[in-house]
Amino acid sequence: MGTHTDPVCGMKVDDKSAAGQSTYLNNTYYFCSQGCKTKFDQNPQQYVSQKAAS
Ligand SMILES: [Zn+2]
Repeated sequence: MGTHTDPVCGMKVDDKSAAGQSTYLNNTYYFCSQGCKTKFDQNPQQYVSQKAAS
């Protein structure tokens, strides 16, 4: 349920209207567009580590 942050572009994405989702390290990420999902899938650790740094 609820709203998630697209880890690629930082947009808020509702899980019901997300263009895509990926699971990485047992976390599910939601994307505003197929393009963001593709970027994430190519290099997921880049986006996950940015989030963890804060
Ligand atoms: Zn996005």
